[in-house]
Amino acid sequence: MTASDPKPAPSRSIIQCPLCGFKVTERLPAGKAPSTADCVACGKAMQARGCCVFCDFGSVRCRAASCSL
Ligand SMILES: [Zn+2]
Ligand SMILES: [Zn+2]
Repeated sequence: MTASDPKPAPSRSIIQCPLCGFKVTERLPAGKAPSTADCVACGKAMQARGCCVFCDFGSVRCRAASCSL
């Protein structure tokens, strides 16, 4: 690893459950991300209103070309 290495695009996003606040680190998919995910803490389904769960609840948005956010 040298200083001239380009910064890698973030490949992980911290998704926070809007219901209980539990945070989980998820890998960002290369393409379309799912719009729903089950919280491992409270068991409720997180339903994204926008593009996907990463765009709505994640610390890093998805990389899908169709994502316009
Ligand atoms: Zn939860
Ligand atoms: Zn998205």
